[in-house]
Amino acid sequence: MLETRGLTANYGDFRALFGVDITVQPGETVAIIGANGAGKTTLLRAIAGVLRSAPAQVLHHGAPIGALPADQVMQRGISMVPEGRRLFPSLSVEENLLIGGQTRRAKGPWSLATVYDLFPILRERRHSPGTALSGGQQQMVAIGRALMANPELMLCDEISLGLAPVVIRDIYAALPQIKAGGASLVIVEQDIAQALRVADRVYCLMEGRVTLTGRPADITRDAIHAAYFGAP
Ligand code: ATP
Repeated sequence: MLETRGLTANYGDFRALFGVDITVQPGETVAIIGANGAGKTTLLRAIAGVLRSAPAQVLHHGAPIGALPADQVMQRGISMVPEGRRLFPSLSVEENLLIGGQTRRAKGPWSLATVYDLFPILRERRHSPGTALSGGQQQMVAIGRALMANPELMLCDEISLGLAPVVIRDIYAALPQIKAGGASLVIVEQDIAQALRVADRVYCLMEGRVTLTGRPADITRDAIHAAYFGAP
């Protein structure tokens, strides 16, 4: 349902992606791993339309979307959970969630009620401002906000960053329900073990290029090490 073909991305004169090819099939969870600065966030930004590329470098159901702005990409059912959560701090939990529903696709299971069922603590805290929440609760709001658009594809950037293990477990426990709701997932994850546990397929990036791809069961530790750091 989603494909990048020879995807390049630049920040000014600096090239961050050099011809990245990835595919995401319906219902799949794809993990993107790689060292700091490898280009993982840039890849998600390029898919989401935050960074523009040539039209045919990103294909959604075969349609070239690489040059579309982020709001139009979102309308096609591609939502992003950005690194750092980026909530509106003065707005309540519920207001933050409703913002996510502004570019809502008609079809799909997600509403305030189903997001609150997924993360019951958010129902309790629905009138609290974003700033009053713990890091884990903020992450739940960020995920809920993306779900409110009823996405077909959800791009998750480092959803476990800076969170306690018990909180990470709660957040990852929600992913199967999100998949059951019909969304495919692309997750950027620093924790390789976590990525291998949840992903159907993994891509490793190094310095803006894909250095490894495969199913977790088929990937060896040595192959990951080489893909992360380069051949010895
Ligand atoms: P991290 O795990 O540190 O977030 P990453 O794999 O997500 O790393 P990116 O954030 O995509 O990597 O960065 C890829 C490269 O692009 C890095 O060399 C980074 O310094 C550079 N870069 C990222 N954002 C910008 C920007 N706004 N302006 C200039 N260079 C940038």
